[in-house]
Amino acid sequence: PFSKLSNVGTTIFSQMTQLANENQAINLSQGFPDFMPDTELLDHVEHFIRKGFNQYAPLGGMIGLKEEIARKIGNSHQADYHPDSEITITAGGTQAIFTAIAAFIKKGDEVIIFEPAYDCYEPTVELFGGIVKRFEMKAPDYEIDWNAVKGLVSEKTRMIILNNPNNPSGKILQEKDIQELIRIVKDTSILILSDEVYENIVFDGKQHLSVCKYPELKERSLLVASFGKLFHVTGWKVGYCAAPKNLTDEFKKVHQFNVFCVNTPIQLALAEYMKNEGHYNSLNGFFQEKRDFLRKGLAGTSFGLLDCEGTYFQAVTYDKISDKSDFEFARELTVTHKVASVPFSSFYNSKLSENVIRLCFAKKQETLEQAIENLSKLS
Ligand code: GLN
Repeated sequence: PFSKLSNVGTTIFSQMTQLANENQAINLSQGFPDFMPDTELLDHVEHFIRKGFNQYAPLGGMIGLKEEIARKIGNSHQADYHPDSEITITAGGTQAIFTAIAAFIKKGDEVIIFEPAYDCYEPTVELFGGIVKRFEMKAPDYEIDWNAVKGLVSEKTRMIILNNPNNPSGKILQEKDIQELIRIVKDTSILILSDEVYENIVFDGKQHLSVCKYPELKERSLLVASFGKLFHVTGWKVGYCAAPKNLTDEFKKVHQFNVFCVNTPIQLALAEYMKNEGHYNSLNGFFQEKRDFLRKGLAGTSFGLLDCEGTYFQAVTYDKISDKSDFEFARELTVTHKVASVPFSSFYNSKLSENVIRLCFAKKQETLEQAIENLSKLS
Protein backbone atom coordinates (compact mmCIF):
# COMPACT_ATOMS: atom_id res chain seq x y z
CA PRO A 1 0.00 0.00 0.00
CA PHE A 2 2.93 2.38 0.54
CA SER A 3 4.65 1.74 -2.82
CA LYS A 4 4.55 4.62 -5.28
CA LEU A 5 6.04 2.43 -8.00
CA SER A 6 4.40 -0.92 -7.42
CA ASN A 7 5.08 -2.14 -10.98
CA VAL A 8 8.76 -1.33 -10.88
CA GLY A 9 11.50 -3.84 -10.02
CA THR A 10 15.28 -3.54 -10.20
CA THR A 11 16.55 -2.08 -13.51
CA ILE A 12 17.40 -4.50 -16.30
CA PHE A 13 20.95 -3.12 -16.33
CA SER A 14 21.58 -4.13 -12.72
CA GLN A 15 19.86 -7.47 -13.28
CA MET A 16 21.91 -8.39 -16.33
CA THR A 17 25.19 -7.19 -14.84
CA GLN A 18 24.53 -9.31 -11.76
CA LEU A 19 23.71 -12.32 -13.93
CA ALA A 20 26.90 -11.72 -15.95
CA ASN A 21 29.00 -11.59 -12.77
CA GLU A 22 27.39 -14.70 -11.29
CA ASN A 23 28.12 -16.61 -14.49
CA GLN A 24 31.54 -15.11 -15.26
CA ALA A 25 30.09 -13.97 -18.55
CA ILE A 26 31.43 -11.19 -20.79
CA ASN A 27 29.29 -8.24 -19.87
CA LEU A 28 27.92 -6.55 -22.99
CA SER A 29 24.70 -5.69 -21.15
CA GLN A 30 24.99 -2.53 -19.05
CA GLY A 31 26.43 0.34 -21.07
CA PHE A 32 29.84 1.24 -19.70
CA PRO A 33 33.42 1.11 -21.02
CA ASP A 34 35.71 -1.62 -19.67
CA PHE A 35 38.83 0.44 -20.44
CA MET A 36 40.54 3.28 -18.58
CA PRO A 37 39.80 6.96 -19.22
CA ASP A 38 42.64 9.21 -20.40
CA THR A 39 45.37 9.58 -17.73
CA GLU A 40 45.50 13.31 -18.44
CA LEU A 41 41.94 13.59 -17.13
CA LEU A 42 42.78 11.48 -14.07
CA ASP A 43 45.79 13.70 -13.36
CA HIS A 44 43.58 16.80 -13.41
CA VAL A 45 41.28 15.25 -10.81
CA GLU A 46 44.17 14.46 -8.49
CA HIS A 47 45.58 17.94 -9.01
CA PHE A 48 42.38 19.70 -7.97
CA ILE A 49 41.80 17.44 -4.99
CA ARG A 50 45.32 18.09 -3.69
CA LYS A 51 45.03 21.79 -4.39
CA GLY A 52 42.17 21.90 -1.91
CA PHE A 53 39.02 22.02 -4.03
CA ASN A 54 37.11 19.62 -1.83
CA GLN A 55 34.10 21.61 -0.65
CA TYR A 56 30.70 22.44 -2.14
CA ALA A 57 30.50 23.82 -5.64
CA PRO A 58 27.99 26.61 -6.37
CA LEU A 59 24.54 25.05 -6.79
CA GLY A 60 24.40 25.36 -10.57
CA GLY A 61 27.95 24.08 -11.02
CA MET A 62 31.48 25.47 -11.45
CA ILE A 63 31.46 28.41 -13.86
CA GLY A 64 34.59 27.22 -15.71
CA LEU A 65 32.90 23.97 -16.66
CA LYS A 66 29.69 25.72 -17.67
CA GLU A 67 31.69 28.02 -19.92
CA GLU A 68 33.36 25.06 -21.62
CA ILE A 69 29.96 23.40 -22.14
CA ALA A 70 28.52 26.59 -23.65
CA ARG A 71 31.54 26.76 -25.97
CA LYS A 72 31.12 23.11 -27.01
CA ILE A 73 27.40 23.55 -27.73
CA GLY A 74 28.10 26.78 -29.62
CA ASN A 75 30.74 25.14 -31.81
CA SER A 76 28.77 21.96 -32.45
CA HIS A 77 25.27 23.33 -32.94
CA GLN A 78 25.63 27.11 -33.38
CA ALA A 79 23.39 27.54 -30.36
CA ASP A 80 23.89 30.10 -27.66
CA TYR A 81 23.44 29.30 -23.95
CA HIS A 82 24.42 31.69 -21.19
CA PRO A 83 26.87 29.66 -19.08
CA ASP A 84 25.68 30.85 -15.70
CA SER A 85 21.92 31.19 -16.12
CA GLU A 86 21.20 28.48 -18.69
CA ILE A 87 23.44 25.52 -17.80
CA THR A 88 23.22 23.35 -14.67
CA ILE A 89 25.74 20.64 -13.77
CA THR A 90 24.00 17.48 -12.54
CA ALA A 91 24.87 14.11 -11.05
CA GLY A 92 24.81 12.39 -14.43
CA GLY A 93 22.16 12.40 -17.15
CA THR A 94 19.71 10.47 -14.99
CA GLN A 95 19.53 13.15 -12.30
CA ALA A 96 19.06 15.82 -14.95
CA ILE A 97 16.14 13.85 -16.40
CA PHE A 98 14.63 13.25 -12.96
CA THR A 99 14.94 16.90 -12.01
CA ALA A 100 13.48 18.14 -15.31
CA ILE A 101 10.45 15.87 -14.89
CA ALA A 102 10.07 16.81 -11.22
CA ALA A 103 10.21 20.50 -12.05
CA PHE A 104 7.55 20.47 -14.76
CA ILE A 105 5.23 17.47 -14.47
CA LYS A 106 2.15 17.75 -12.28
CA LYS A 107 -0.65 15.29 -11.58
CA GLY A 108 -2.61 14.53 -14.74
CA ASP A 109 -0.05 16.00 -17.17
CA GLU A 110 0.59 13.82 -20.20
CA VAL A 111 4.08 13.00 -21.40
CA ILE A 112 4.85 11.42 -24.78
CA ILE A 113 7.73 8.96 -24.99
CA PHE A 114 9.14 6.86 -27.80
CA GLU A 115 9.75 3.16 -27.24
CA PRO A 116 12.06 1.27 -27.09
CA ALA A 117 12.73 3.78 -24.30
CA TYR A 118 15.51 4.12 -21.78
CA ASP A 119 14.12 2.85 -18.52
CA CYS A 120 14.05 5.91 -16.25
CA TYR A 121 11.57 8.11 -18.13
CA GLU A 122 8.33 6.36 -17.39
CA PRO A 123 8.67 5.68 -13.63
CA THR A 124 9.86 9.23 -13.04
CA VAL A 125 6.85 10.69 -14.84
CA GLU A 126 4.56 8.42 -12.80
CA LEU A 127 6.22 9.41 -9.55
CA PHE A 128 4.98 12.95 -10.12
CA GLY A 129 1.48 11.90 -11.17
CA GLY A 130 2.06 12.25 -14.90
CA ILE A 131 0.51 9.97 -17.50
CA VAL A 132 2.74 8.37 -20.12
CA LYS A 133 1.61 8.15 -23.76
CA ARG A 134 3.78 5.91 -25.89
CA PHE A 135 4.70 5.57 -29.50
CA GLU A 136 6.26 2.20 -30.24
CA MET A 137 9.08 2.25 -32.78
CA LYS A 138 9.58 -1.23 -34.16
CA ALA A 139 12.29 -3.42 -35.67
CA PRO A 140 13.97 -3.37 -38.06
CA ASP A 141 13.83 0.37 -38.84
CA TYR A 142 12.47 1.99 -35.67
CA GLU A 143 10.82 4.68 -37.83
CA ILE A 144 8.55 7.24 -36.22
CA ASP A 145 5.08 7.70 -37.69
CA TRP A 146 4.56 11.36 -36.83
CA ASN A 147 0.85 11.24 -37.64
CA ALA A 148 0.49 8.64 -34.93
CA VAL A 149 2.53 10.81 -32.58
CA LYS A 150 0.28 13.77 -33.37
CA GLY A 151 -2.65 11.57 -32.42
CA LEU A 152 -1.16 11.22 -28.93
CA VAL A 153 -1.11 14.96 -28.38
CA SER A 154 -3.94 16.44 -26.31
CA GLU A 155 -4.69 19.56 -24.27
CA LYS A 156 -2.97 17.84 -21.39
CA THR A 157 0.32 17.11 -23.16
CA ARG A 158 3.00 18.86 -21.13
CA MET A 159 6.19 17.25 -22.39
CA ILE A 160 7.69 15.13 -25.15
CA ILE A 161 10.78 13.13 -24.20
CA LEU A 162 13.26 12.48 -26.99
CA ASN A 163 16.32 10.26 -26.85
CA ASN A 164 18.58 11.03 -29.77
CA PRO A 165 20.70 9.03 -30.61
CA ASN A 166 18.34 6.41 -29.26
CA ASN A 167 19.39 3.91 -26.63
CA PRO A 168 18.85 0.98 -27.33
CA SER A 169 18.07 1.06 -31.09
CA GLY A 170 21.02 3.22 -32.21
CA LYS A 171 18.62 5.23 -34.37
CA ILE A 172 19.21 8.96 -34.92
CA LEU A 173 16.61 11.58 -35.84
CA GLN A 174 16.67 12.90 -39.41
CA GLU A 175 15.90 16.43 -40.53
CA LYS A 176 12.42 15.30 -41.60
CA ASP A 177 11.73 13.98 -38.08
CA ILE A 178 12.76 17.29 -36.56
CA GLN A 179 10.57 19.24 -38.99
CA GLU A 180 7.56 17.06 -38.09
CA LEU A 181 8.27 17.63 -34.42
CA ILE A 182 8.45 21.38 -34.96
CA ARG A 183 5.04 21.27 -36.65
CA ILE A 184 3.55 19.30 -33.77
CA VAL A 185 4.72 21.60 -30.98
CA LYS A 186 4.12 24.87 -32.82
CA ASP A 187 1.55 27.07 -31.03
CA THR A 188 1.48 24.75 -28.00
CA SER A 189 3.14 25.04 -24.61
CA ILE A 190 4.61 21.53 -24.84
CA LEU A 191 8.12 21.22 -23.39
CA ILE A 192 10.78 18.94 -24.83
CA LEU A 193 13.13 16.95 -22.66
CA SER A 194 15.89 15.87 -25.03
CA ASP A 195 18.19 13.15 -23.76
CA GLU A 196 21.23 13.50 -26.03
CA VAL A 197 23.82 11.72 -23.90
CA TYR A 198 25.20 9.89 -26.98
CA GLU A 199 25.43 13.08 -29.08
CA ASN A 200 29.14 12.58 -29.75
CA ILE A 201 28.78 8.95 -30.78
CA VAL A 202 27.31 9.14 -34.29
CA PHE A 203 28.68 7.17 -37.22
CA ASP A 204 29.35 7.16 -40.97
CA GLY A 205 29.73 10.94 -41.16
CA LYS A 206 26.08 11.42 -40.18
CA GLN A 207 25.19 14.52 -38.22
CA HIS A 208 23.63 14.62 -34.78
CA LEU A 209 20.68 17.01 -34.94
CA SER A 210 20.34 18.53 -31.50
CA VAL A 211 17.10 20.25 -30.53
CA CYS A 212 19.15 23.34 -29.72
CA LYS A 213 19.98 23.83 -33.41
CA TYR A 214 16.37 24.79 -34.05
CA PRO A 215 15.17 28.02 -32.36
CA GLU A 216 11.54 26.78 -32.37
CA LEU A 217 12.63 23.77 -30.32
CA LYS A 218 15.42 25.32 -28.27
CA GLU A 219 13.07 27.81 -26.60
CA ARG A 220 11.03 24.94 -25.08
CA SER A 221 13.76 22.32 -24.59
CA LEU A 222 15.74 20.94 -21.69
CA LEU A 223 18.83 19.43 -23.28
CA VAL A 224 20.54 16.70 -21.27
CA ALA A 225 24.08 15.36 -21.81
CA SER A 226 26.61 13.30 -19.87
CA PHE A 227 30.35 13.29 -19.29
CA GLY A 228 30.18 9.59 -18.44
CA LYS A 229 29.56 8.85 -22.11
CA LEU A 230 31.84 11.59 -23.41
CA PHE A 231 35.00 10.72 -21.48
CA HIS A 232 34.49 7.04 -20.50
CA VAL A 233 33.73 7.83 -16.84
CA THR A 234 30.19 6.58 -16.23
CA GLY A 235 30.99 6.10 -12.53
CA TRP A 236 31.78 9.76 -11.98
CA LYS A 237 28.12 10.64 -12.48
CA VAL A 238 28.48 14.12 -13.90
CA GLY A 239 26.25 15.51 -16.63
CA TYR A 240 24.32 18.68 -17.35
CA CYS A 241 21.10 20.27 -18.44
CA ALA A 242 21.09 23.23 -20.84
CA ALA A 243 17.85 25.18 -21.17
CA PRO A 244 16.62 28.76 -21.63
CA LYS A 245 16.73 30.86 -18.47
CA ASN A 246 13.02 30.63 -17.65
CA LEU A 247 13.22 26.83 -17.73
CA THR A 248 16.61 26.67 -15.98
CA ASP A 249 15.25 28.83 -13.14
CA GLU A 250 12.54 26.22 -12.46
CA PHE A 251 14.99 23.34 -12.96
CA LYS A 252 17.36 24.82 -10.36
CA LYS A 253 14.58 25.25 -7.79
CA VAL A 254 14.32 21.46 -7.71
CA HIS A 255 18.01 20.75 -8.25
CA GLN A 256 19.03 22.73 -5.15
CA PHE A 257 16.94 20.49 -2.89
CA ASN A 258 17.72 17.30 -4.78
CA VAL A 259 21.53 17.32 -4.78
CA PHE A 260 22.27 21.03 -4.30
CA CYS A 261 25.53 20.67 -6.22
CA VAL A 262 27.82 17.95 -7.57
CA ASN A 263 31.46 16.86 -7.20
CA THR A 264 33.73 19.93 -7.17
CA PRO A 265 37.21 18.60 -8.14
CA ILE A 266 35.77 16.50 -10.94
CA GLN A 267 33.97 19.51 -12.41
CA LEU A 268 37.25 21.44 -12.37
CA ALA A 269 39.09 18.55 -13.99
CA LEU A 270 36.46 18.18 -16.72
CA ALA A 271 36.65 21.91 -17.46
CA GLU A 272 40.42 21.74 -17.84
CA TYR A 273 40.23 18.65 -20.04
CA MET A 274 37.49 20.12 -22.27
CA LYS A 275 39.76 22.99 -23.30
CA ASN A 276 41.16 20.59 -25.88
CA GLU A 277 38.30 19.93 -28.30
CA GLY A 278 40.15 16.93 -29.70
CA HIS A 279 39.21 15.13 -26.50
CA TYR A 280 35.60 14.89 -27.58
CA ASN A 281 35.69 15.40 -31.32
CA SER A 282 37.54 12.12 -31.80
CA LEU A 283 34.82 10.02 -30.17
CA ASN A 284 32.84 9.24 -33.33
CA GLY A 285 35.82 7.60 -35.01
CA PHE A 286 36.91 5.82 -31.84
CA PHE A 287 33.57 4.09 -31.38
CA GLN A 288 32.95 3.56 -35.09
CA GLU A 289 36.00 1.28 -35.14
CA LYS A 290 34.57 -0.74 -32.29
CA ARG A 291 31.15 -0.91 -33.90
CA ASP A 292 32.65 -2.07 -37.18
CA PHE A 293 34.81 -4.67 -35.45
CA LEU A 294 31.78 -6.15 -33.71
CA ARG A 295 29.63 -6.05 -36.85
CA LYS A 296 32.32 -7.69 -38.94
CA GLY A 297 32.79 -10.37 -36.32
CA LEU A 298 29.08 -11.13 -36.21
CA ALA A 299 28.49 -10.90 -39.96
CA GLY A 300 29.34 -14.55 -40.50
CA THR A 301 27.15 -15.79 -37.62
CA SER A 302 23.45 -16.58 -37.41
CA PHE A 303 22.77 -13.28 -35.66
CA GLY A 304 21.15 -10.51 -37.73
CA LEU A 305 22.61 -7.01 -37.55
CA LEU A 306 20.25 -4.04 -37.35
CA ASP A 307 21.45 -0.57 -38.33
CA CYS A 308 23.54 1.28 -35.78
CA GLU A 309 23.76 4.99 -36.56
CA GLY A 310 24.82 6.13 -33.11
CA THR A 311 25.29 5.22 -29.38
CA TYR A 312 27.58 2.38 -28.28
CA PHE A 313 24.92 -0.27 -28.65
CA GLN A 314 24.44 -2.77 -31.46
CA ALA A 315 20.98 -4.32 -31.81
CA VAL A 316 20.99 -7.89 -33.11
CA THR A 317 18.20 -10.31 -34.03
CA TYR A 318 18.42 -13.99 -33.22
CA ASP A 319 15.35 -15.53 -34.91
CA LYS A 320 17.55 -17.93 -36.89
CA ILE A 321 18.95 -19.28 -33.61
CA SER A 322 16.03 -19.53 -31.20
CA ASP A 323 12.32 -18.90 -30.88
CA LYS A 324 12.53 -18.10 -27.17
CA SER A 325 11.38 -14.72 -25.90
CA ASP A 326 14.21 -12.20 -25.84
CA PHE A 327 14.31 -12.27 -22.04
CA GLU A 328 14.73 -16.04 -21.97
CA PHE A 329 17.23 -15.92 -24.80
CA ALA A 330 19.36 -13.23 -23.11
CA ARG A 331 19.37 -15.27 -19.92
CA GLU A 332 20.43 -18.42 -21.76
CA LEU A 333 23.10 -16.53 -23.68
CA THR A 334 24.58 -15.32 -20.39
CA VAL A 335 24.43 -18.61 -18.52
CA THR A 336 25.38 -21.01 -21.33
CA HIS A 337 27.39 -18.96 -23.81
CA LYS A 338 28.86 -16.45 -21.34
CA VAL A 339 27.81 -13.27 -23.11
CA ALA A 340 25.42 -10.90 -21.34
CA SER A 341 23.12 -8.61 -23.34
CA VAL A 342 19.93 -6.64 -22.74
CA PRO A 343 16.62 -7.92 -24.15
CA PHE A 344 14.77 -5.22 -26.10
CA SER A 345 11.41 -6.11 -24.54
CA SER A 346 12.58 -4.44 -21.34
CA PHE A 347 12.44 -1.12 -23.19
CA TYR A 348 8.73 -1.51 -24.04
CA ASN A 349 5.86 -1.14 -21.60
CA SER A 350 4.01 -3.83 -23.58
CA LYS A 351 7.12 -6.10 -23.23
CA LEU A 352 7.07 -6.40 -27.01
CA SER A 353 9.53 -9.13 -27.97
CA GLU A 354 10.72 -8.94 -31.57
CA ASN A 355 13.69 -11.25 -30.99
CA VAL A 356 16.15 -8.42 -30.59
CA ILE A 357 18.90 -8.02 -27.98
CA ARG A 358 21.30 -5.15 -27.31
CA LEU A 359 25.09 -5.59 -27.21
CA CYS A 360 27.33 -2.84 -25.80
CA PHE A 361 30.53 -2.36 -27.79
CA ALA A 362 32.21 0.19 -25.50
CA LYS A 363 34.72 -2.54 -24.72
CA LYS A 364 38.40 -3.39 -25.19
CA GLN A 365 39.40 -5.21 -28.35
CA GLU A 366 40.03 -8.44 -26.38
CA THR A 367 36.60 -8.28 -24.81
CA LEU A 368 34.92 -7.89 -28.18
CA GLU A 369 37.04 -10.68 -29.69
CA GLN A 370 36.09 -13.05 -26.91
CA ALA A 371 32.40 -12.14 -27.21
CA ILE A 372 32.47 -12.70 -30.97
CA GLU A 373 34.12 -16.07 -30.45
CA ASN A 374 31.42 -17.15 -28.01
CA LEU A 375 28.58 -15.82 -30.15
CA SER A 376 29.97 -17.55 -33.26
CA LYS A 377 29.31 -20.91 -31.64
CA LEU A 378 25.55 -20.39 -31.83
CA SER A 379 23.70 -21.26 -34.97
N1 GLN B 1 22.92 3.89 -19.64
C1 GLN B 1 23.35 2.55 -19.38
C2 GLN B 1 22.71 1.57 -20.34
O1 GLN B 1 21.90 1.91 -21.12
C3 GLN B 1 22.98 2.02 -18.02
C4 GLN B 1 22.89 2.94 -16.88
C5 GLN B 1 22.36 2.21 -15.68
O2 GLN B 1 22.81 1.13 -15.37
N2 GLN B 1 21.37 2.75 -15.05
O3 GLN B 1 23.04 0.44 -20.28
